[in-house]
Amino acid sequence: MLSKLPIDKFRTLRTPFYYYDANLLRQTLHTINDEAGKYPGYHVHYAVKANANLKVLRVINDAGLGIDCVSGGEIEQVLKAGFPADKIVFAGVGKSDWEIELGIDSGIFCFNVESIPELQIINQIAVQKGKKANVCFRINPNVGAHTHANITTGLAENKFGIAMDDMEGVISLAKQMSGIEFKGLHFHIGSQILEMDDFIALANRINELQDRLEARGIFCEIINVGGGLGIDYNNPEANPVPNFRDYFATYHNHLQLRPGQSVHFELGRSVVGQCGMLITKVNFVKQATYKQFAIVDAGMTDLIRPALYDAHHKAVNLTSKGEKETYDLVGPICESSDVFDKDIQLSAVSRGDLIALLSAGAYGEIMASGYNCRRLPEGYISDEL
Ligand SMILES: *Cc1c(COP(=O)(O)O)cnc(C)c1O
Repeated sequence: MLSKLPIDKFRTLRTPFYYYDANLLRQTLHTINDEAGKYPGYHVHYAVKANANLKVLRVINDAGLGIDCVSGGEIEQVLKAGFPADKIVFAGVGKSDWEIELGIDSGIFCFNVESIPELQIINQIAVQKGKKANVCFRINPNVGAHTHANITTGLAENKFGIAMDDMEGVISLAKQMSGIEFKGLHFHIGSQILEMDDFIALANRINELQDRLEARGIFCEIINVGGGLGIDYNNPEANPVPNFRDYFATYHNHLQLRPGQSVHFELGRSVVGQCGMLITKVNFVKQATYKQFAIVDAGMTDLIRPALYDAHHKAVNLTSKGEKETYDLVGPICESSDVFDKDIQLSAVSRGDLIALLSAGAYGEIMASGYNCRRLPEGYISDEL
């Protein structure tokens, strides 16, 4: 993977920039289609909030995945990339009226609804337009996930979803609304989840909820289990493709489906995480009292995950074969949290070296900001270089 990088080409591009390995992305998508394809009625949507680069989106669209959006801007972006509207699901706790209108006008597949006030507005807008909106309810399953506190979403204390106790009430309300077509249930418990037990806990909870609904004669056509499968940030070269086999098999083995039900997945990080890297140039090597700093031209504005989630991206010096030395790898932003990693081993660094921060395909480029009036990083895909 690293040995095949077009380093000479990299030297001609303005740093920092994102680089996406299209072949690894295609291989990942192929594995997803193979593994999900073993089970009838399994549909995979790509959660576009992980990476909305058009070049990346077009490769994903070629593989036939559906889409999970969390904003009107994302709907616009995926339509531009060529995704069919009828494969879009639309989640989010705070949808604005224009976003709901856009969803209805473009004919998206389903709204994942997170509250009664939201349901009422979707109904009102749909009725005004003489249309019916398909709706799944996002239920907060009160299931924890073994991941960073800022990326758990399925606990009762989180802002997401409708409480389990309110489920039957909301569904019967929806069934009385002329602008709403009730389709099923939606869940999403968090991100960067590597323990299959967490997904088993969700499947068990869904089984309980389905039993409750069945006792009331309520049928769900769709069970949407969300996303959350993690990637190996520590050893990306050894594990470039996440374990989709175990992931889909876990749901197959634990989720009890009723005849005619389809299962929808919303995978973000696991689709694009490993295919991307951030390439940055070393501006200075600074010897300080206790530390040796490699100061690069990328900062938290380009890749915020280390500052935001204590995330770790493996760093590699692409242009030096020197002896390993210990560095703090830091950016130029005026914030003490603008540190990619501390006390890491890199081949001896000198000014002008190119450093790759690996596993940066998800929640990297899309989260870049212009803080400090910085330019947004460019994103290149291997097919074009
Ligand atoms: C963020 C998100 C996802 C994708 O999560 P990953 O951990 O990237 O797979 C899926 N569904 C919803 C509703 C989300 O908010």
